[in-house]
Amino acid sequence: MTGGWRDDASCRGKNPDLWHSPATIGYAKSVCRRCPVRDVCLAEAVAAVEPYGVWGGLTALERNVRRYSATEQERLLVLAEVGRGASSVRDLMDRVGIDDVTARRHLGRLERDGLVVVSRSNGRPLRVEVSQRVAS
Ligand code: SF4
Repeated sequence: MTGGWRDDASCRGKNPDLWHSPATIGYAKSVCRRCPVRDVCLAEAVAAVEPYGVWGGLTALERNVRRYSATEQERLLVLAEVGRGASSVRDLMDRVGIDDVTARRHLGRLERDGLVVVSRSNGRPLRVEVSQRVAS
């Protein structure tokens, strides 16, 4: 795992097999619990419907069992795209396939949850980035 938020992953440099073996799930989850990019990692895995391994502290089964509403899934996808470098509402509209109002609504919620930072001008979002909590 390298690039972007992955550079800050607690599992960086560790054997990925530890995140994919039933015998080491407990260890993987303990590392994920302390990981500063856990939210965006989980968002990526849910958005990609990642079928294997522990991501964001959840196994594939746990990710599947947990019921994400369509709105939650879309919001996680927005977060994942911000983590991948989408920096404007327009980027998010293009990448996620949502309208301006929906993109702003998701950003507002992610901002309240402390996951993204939104710079505004006259109330309009100009630039979005993952928060320090996620990025550092
Ligand atoms: S949350 Fe994701 S990035 Fe962090 S340690 Fe777990 S698998 Fe790695």
